[in-house]
Amino acid sequence: MSSGHLTIDLGALAANWRALDARTGCETAAVVKADGYGLGAARVARALADAGARRFFVAVAEEGAAVRAALGPGVMIGVFSGHMDGDSDLIRDNDLTPMLNSVDQMLRHVEALPDRRFGIQLDSGMNRLGMEPAEWAALRDVALRQKPVLIMSHLACADEPEHEMNAQQLQSFIEMTADLNVPRSLSATGGILLGKKYHFDLTRPGIGLYGGLPFDRAAKVARLDVPVIQVRDAEVGETAGYGNTWTATRPSRLATVAAGYADGILRAMGPKVSLYHGDKPCPVAGRISMDLIIVDVTDLEQDPPYLTLLGPHQGVDDLADAAGTIGYEILTSLGARYSRSYRA
Ligand SMILES: *Cc1c(COP(=O)(O)O)cnc(C)c1O
Repeated sequence: MSSGHLTIDLGALAANWRALDARTGCETAAVVKADGYGLGAARVARALADAGARRFFVAVAEEGAAVRAALGPGVMIGVFSGHMDGDSDLIRDNDLTPMLNSVDQMLRHVEALPDRRFGIQLDSGMNRLGMEPAEWAALRDVALRQKPVLIMSHLACADEPEHEMNAQQLQSFIEMTADLNVPRSLSATGGILLGKKYHFDLTRPGIGLYGGLPFDRAAKVARLDVPVIQVRDAEVGETAGYGNTWTATRPSRLATVAAGYADGILRAMGPKVSLYHGDKPCPVAGRISMDLIIVDVTDLEQDPPYLTLLGPHQGVDDLADAAGTIGYEILTSLGARYSRSYRA
């Protein structure tokens, strides 16, 4: 192995989907946008379909086409960005279901693809996507005559259970959708954990499937092993890496591994993370560079052939904490240079 190797545990992914599904009494979809949160949309979507998912969501129509190619007919693939200008052919040819976000999108859809399924996205307060309450009130009757298959909205603060925004958005969503005979969806991973009131007819988990917070019971899905290129000794007082930010305070053994910030190992994680040899943590020595990381392996009995960055002792949220970001960004930054294998 000459580049980092990413191992994706599809069994853990399926177990996470089942665990989230078991928390609700409704249908559970799967969000596979951004190439399945960086883990490979085709393989991830197939594993989730095998686990029982029948509705999938992506961010844009191009991603939907890739997921349709992987899954074939018979499942719904929803597109959060709706029906954008120029998307009609992709939507038709791949049988995608756009979540229409505005009057303009509604008109575009009905004009271009009058017989094709669609959903509606409402803004319950996040101010990102979806129709505003007033816009929806004006369009509602016309829209309902076209028979939407789903009405959805999205929570801004669901990862903070005590946040007052959750109840406000719930109330707003209920007001906009009361007495409609259309299936409704409000919650992603965070909303599932908020409890039954937030579940409606369909939930849309993403991050929890891939082993990330706020689903703190999630099984780890991604493992990342990085090969050691070279190992050397450093005397007391010698420095390592750009900027000389690390200095040996004891006779040291330094391993240089083949991955860096160009592979999504964010430079800001810098000195706060370790790579593991089995159960043993080996701290990063000095700055993470573009393609290389220097690791202090002095405490190991033998020079290791590779070290583990993501694994049983350190998950995506640990790396996120070290870099001052969120697990979502760690996953979706994982580099294209890694070789990949998928475990059933
Ligand atoms: C990304 C996204 C989801 C999934 O969110 P997670 O927090 O990853 O579970 C669900 N719905 C919408 C509209 C999204 O943009």
